[in-house]
Parts: sequence; C-alpha cells; structure tokens
Amino acid sequence: DTTHGAILYLEDITVSFDGFKALNNLNLDISVGELRCIIGPNGAGKTTMMDVITGKTRPTSGTAYFGQTMDLTKMAEYEISHAGIGRKFQRPTVFEQHTVLENLELAMKMNKRVKPTLFFRLSSEQKDKIDDILRLIRLNGQEKRLAGLLSHGQKQWLEIGMLLMQEPQLILLDEPVAGMSDAETVRTAELLNELRGKHSIMVVEHDMAFVTEIARDGKVTVLHEGSVLAEGKMHEVQADDRVIEVYLGR
Ligand code: ADP
Repeated sequence: DTTHGAILYLEDITVSFDGFKALNNLNLDISVGELRCIIGPNGAGKTTMMDVITGKTRPTSGTAYFGQTMDLTKMAEYEISHAGIGRKFQRPTVFEQHTVLENLELAMKMNKRVKPTLFFRLSSEQKDKIDDILRLIRLNGQEKRLAGLLSHGQKQWLEIGMLLMQEPQLILLDEPVAGMSDAETVRTAELLNELRGKHSIMVVEHDMAFVTEIARDGKVTVLHEGSVLAEGKMHEVQADDRVIEVYLGR
C-alpha cells in the first residue's frame, strides 16, 4: 500500500511554469474523513495544488494518488470529477434562474452514481437527502426562492449543498468564506463542523479566525513557495517562527 490509507496522497509534486516552480516537491496526504485546512501567503501554490488534484494542471514531476489506485496525474479533469473529487471555486456558480430546490435537484441528476431515468422522479430517500442538505446549508424554508436572489453567503452554501448532492469522496473548498459577512462566516464554520468526520475535506482559506474555528484539533498545512513549510495543529503552526516570518516578515 503506497498511499498508507490516505484518500489523497501527493508525492514530490513539482509544477514549473517556464522554469518558475509554482509547486516545488510538494508532499501532502489527507486521511479518510479528515478536514484539512491549507493556509499560506499569496503565491504559495495553493491554487496550483488544487489544479493538480483536479487535473486542470499536469505536474512537471511527482505523483498524486486518489484512494489506493487512481493516479490523478494520468486522468482527465472529467474523469477525476466522476471518480469523486468535487471542487468548489471561490466564486459561487449556482444556476441563478432556478430555485434553490431546482439547483439541488440538478446537482443530484449530475451525480454519476444515481441511475438516470427518462422521467426523473425523486425517490423518498432522495427527497429526505435534499431536506437534510437544505437544513445543513441553512436554506430550509427557502427552497422556492430563485438562487439569483440569495445573498452571496447563501449562494456559497447552496453550492456546497450541490457538491454534496454529487456525493464526492473528497471535497475541495477554495476560500469558502471570501466575501462573506461575519455572521455568514460563523455559520459556514458551523456547517463545516457538521460535516466533520462524514466527509474528507480540504479547505484553502485566508481567514485565520475561521481556520482556527474549523481546524479544531486537526492538522493545518502551511504552504510557502510551493512546498510545505509547516504542518500541525493550528496553535503549533501559529507559534512556528518560520510561519510567523512568511506572514509578517516582509
Ligand atoms: P496561491 O493560490 O497560493 O496564491 P498560486 O498557486 O495561484 O498561489 O500561484 C503560485 C505561483 O505560481 C505564483 O507565483 C503564481 O504567479 C505562479 N503561477 C500560477 N499559475 C501560473 C501560470 N499559469 N503561469 C505562470 N505562473 C503561474
């Protein structure tokens, strides 16, 4: 077992753009059911790392395993998505002309594990699932609203709900609280804490108060110049001189 039971296993990943190394021998693994926070200053390589995981960018060298057997560096973007890696980008991309409920149903229909039928009707199990997700994303009672009329934060939650409808095995969230109000940020932390242990989640985020809230006792990884600068519990990495230097020292 080369991946040591990890759901995601990145080994010595380097991505060069005309000689510049956006990722430089990056090593990182995520365990099943883990909620991992990734932090690091601008330009650290966080986006490039997500692009490698989702097949958008091919590494110059290194290996990336999903589960025990899938080599992500040899798969197309759509294959990776079908294999169960779901990514939420920073900007919400919901179907604005459709209701909250329709958005969730559309996402369910896009789930490759749900057998498509000509006249798609939701089973009672699927309806229960939608209800659970509506509660989780704090949009129960609002299912008839047009998604375009939701607040920025609500759109972000709806998109998290749509991701969950597709039952991904690994969820990548890119700055989920960017642009949110303080109240929305707190609720997003609550939402992620409810998902803890039930899903494998990687969160890239700049908001340190939020990261502290969702990291709890879990591992935080600090990226810098394309590799891992520090990894440990939030209070440990925050007290690490090298981390303090890259955040404050320039
Ligand atoms: P982060 O998400 O942590 O801010 P990025 O992964 O976006 O960092 O970028 C890492 C570094 O790689 C940056 O210096 C960025 O300018 C560079 N970079 C990213 N994508 C490209 C590209 N397509 N071509 C050239 N340089 C790039």
